[in-house]
Amino acid sequence: MAITQTFNDVNDDARNGAYSTPAQPAELDASKVTITVAREFKPVPPASELVFGQVMTDHMMVVHYDPVNGWSAPEIKPYGPLSIDPASSCLQYATNVFEGMKAYAGPDGRPRLFRPDMNMKRMQISAARVALPPFDTAELLKLIHKLVALDARWIPTVKGHSLYIRPTIIGTRDSLGVAASDRATLYVILCPTGPFFRTGARPVNLLAVHDHVRAWPGGTGGYKLALNYAPTFKPQQHAAKLGYDQCLWLLGEKITEAGAMNFFVVVRRDDGDLDVITPPLDGTILPGITRASTLDLIRAHPSRTTLPGLSPETLLHAVERELTISQLAAWAEEGRLLEAFTVGTAVVVAAVGRIGHDGKDIVLPAHEGALGAVARALYERITDIQEGRFEWENWSVPCA
Ligand SMILES: *Cc1c(COP(=O)(O)O)cnc(C)c1O
Repeated sequence: MAITQTFNDVNDDARNGAYSTPAQPAELDASKVTITVAREFKPVPPASELVFGQVMTDHMMVVHYDPVNGWSAPEIKPYGPLSIDPASSCLQYATNVFEGMKAYAGPDGRPRLFRPDMNMKRMQISAARVALPPFDTAELLKLIHKLVALDARWIPTVKGHSLYIRPTIIGTRDSLGVAASDRATLYVILCPTGPFFRTGARPVNLLAVHDHVRAWPGGTGGYKLALNYAPTFKPQQHAAKLGYDQCLWLLGEKITEAGAMNFFVVVRRDDGDLDVITPPLDGTILPGITRASTLDLIRAHPSRTTLPGLSPETLLHAVERELTISQLAAWAEEGRLLEAFTVGTAVVVAAVGRIGHDGKDIVLPAHEGALGAVARALYERITDIQEGRFEWENWSVPCA
């Protein structure tokens, strides 16, 4: 049985003549959403069988923009194909932007989002970079809340599992003219996901890549644009062939990121304190929300909170500065390089085992359960916040 709930009074207004001559394009408005519930619900796969990104939930949210009418009434409806013109800007000129966020099952069973305002802001900035139309980010977030609430039965309740949320905006101008897309479709799809490494905690091995560059000064590496990812697949295949999990992206000697994750190292200083170092946001680094959260938590230890498993006597310093591959090799040689790890929404925190560089491996110290003390403390604290077990600075937002 199809149930259609209509939460808008657009038709009434239209009959009253209110919209007969739209004075200006409409803003994105979550209160105009129509919700069409799927006729049949798909079976939810057991948590143990989830493969990232393979099974989508029952519903999606779709809304369209055109320069005359502005944003249409959003639709939440059964998941299914989009129909777009073959000349569409997104297919020809890569006007595609995406976000990656997650909904977690809280201890009370309610879905929770992690710092979702940061994803909304970043999406707005990315869309502007490829001249896609602006949208009210608070309204988009309301629509995400509604969609997640509708598909809440898909959120796995097992620790470390969650519902991945993929907001996407694509340019749909149907002309081959090489110009900004004045039309767009914004949509949100969801898929349940398990921990990044199903085989249990295992360190990631990275291959330092010299001959392909992911991001460069003045480029687009600092934005979540689809066009940044396609050129990484071939180097990634090459790395896999040589037995590495991900590429460590360099710009000359400078380390930028690992795969589609931000990169950190933990280095012992002469005074015994630990520097937790990541490259600065100079335009070549994606401003990760996990990266920002990691830096905030490092700065809070031990003055405002003690991170799990770390002694308050362990003094940590969050450092945003350039990192070179030869510096890393030197620190490893001197025995100062205690940990390297990668962070991102999908993996949360993953330890690095070795880094292939110039035909040799920089080998990181092995840690029980793979994660070193700092990486483990961050993993535990961030997932505790995400899953609602630890309250911190309103980072975890219950779904309305
Ligand atoms: C998404 C992404 C990250 C991680 O960002 P989060 O907001 O922490 O998920 C890091 N690097 C790249 C290149 C990314 O695309």
